[in-house]
Amino acid sequence: MTIAPLMPVYPRCGVRPVRGEGCYLIAEDGTRYLDMAAGIAVNALGHSHPKLIEAIQRQAATLMHVSNLYGSPQGEHFAQRLVDATFADTVFFTNSGAEAVECAIKTARRYHYANGHPERHDLITFNNAFHGRTLGTISATNQAKMRDGFEPLLPGFKYAPFDDLAAALALVDEHTAGFLVEPIQGEGGLRPASEAFLKGLRQACDEHGLLLVLDEVQCGYGRTGTFFAHELYGVTPDIMASAKGIGGGFPLGACLATAEAAKGMVFGTHGSTYGGNPLAMAAGEAVLDVIQEPGFLDHVTAMGQRLRQALEQMIPNHDHLFEEVRGHGLMLGLKLKTDARRFVGFLRDEHQLLTVSAGDNVVRLVPPLVIDESHVAECVEKLSAAARVYVPVADD
Ligand code: PLP
Repeated sequence: MTIAPLMPVYPRCGVRPVRGEGCYLIAEDGTRYLDMAAGIAVNALGHSHPKLIEAIQRQAATLMHVSNLYGSPQGEHFAQRLVDATFADTVFFTNSGAEAVECAIKTARRYHYANGHPERHDLITFNNAFHGRTLGTISATNQAKMRDGFEPLLPGFKYAPFDDLAAALALVDEHTAGFLVEPIQGEGGLRPASEAFLKGLRQACDEHGLLLVLDEVQCGYGRTGTFFAHELYGVTPDIMASAKGIGGGFPLGACLATAEAAKGMVFGTHGSTYGGNPLAMAAGEAVLDVIQEPGFLDHVTAMGQRLRQALEQMIPNHDHLFEEVRGHGLMLGLKLKTDARRFVGFLRDEHQLLTVSAGDNVVRLVPPLVIDESHVAECVEKLSAAARVYVPVADD
């Protein structure tokens, strides 16, 4: 039996990037790609942003890592800035999105335990959700492709159709801790929740003493033109997972919570060797500095509108292929009438345009938040050029 040294769990394509410059990736063979994927919604500042480079280099030369057994001036400072900018009163730093969701799940369970209701341990989650690849987070989705072969999974999750308030409420019983939901499903097919759905979940939480846990790992951190996507909906969570854009490419995540929701998270209940180390905090602060610059989020909104309009204008010219555009800000999905994975490969190999496929035959456009009009124009030109010559195969 032979196996590649790099465990072959990804269907890796032929592009082998070795350098990044702003919104472009340069491959080993010198090919230059327009990067509308941004490491799957991670490189919020694009590639090689000077402020992020400078902050990481400076911190690496000063103090890279210490244990969480010591005081953390770096963590306290960054956490305070996140608290000041959000609904949250407290933050736990992680190294990834899945860990941020794990912390959110634990925080929700501990809340009810601290309130004398350990039996309220179930989170209601949603069809096509994606919360990560740990055992806990694959238990929080009912997608067979992520779960098969990994049973037994973690009990304590129930699944309702996404955006179906009545179905979600019908699952509430004496064991329910709350709801875990992405305001805009990313991997599941770029599906935004409706306002009535999220507001309805919030109301049910308030009425029944449940917790609203949002997974904003993909849709948060400026991507929708607001700091977090829930702001678009006028809905406030009790607990929220953030990651991806928060580190701009440095592995960083965060679980944010209100003081009330985090009441069970006392000494010894959770931890991480690396979580929130000085190097990660420096990266996080540098990204936040840029995102909080006046006009930055307005730029995201403006570029999102421009990209959306351009895509909507393009669709009727290729209506054998494209169906609709959905999403918010710079988290947009182009729904195809045919297989999206194959078209994404065609865009990449024939037109040097990097996108990501998502469920429901959607081409995801989650570019660096620093894109400008020239990148929008180039992206839509490449999409149109590809659509003109693309031949879907019959059984797509
Ligand atoms: N939650 C959502 C909504 C995601 O999109 C992802 C990753 O794509 C995760 C959680 C898991 O994040 P990570 O891969 O950093 O563990």
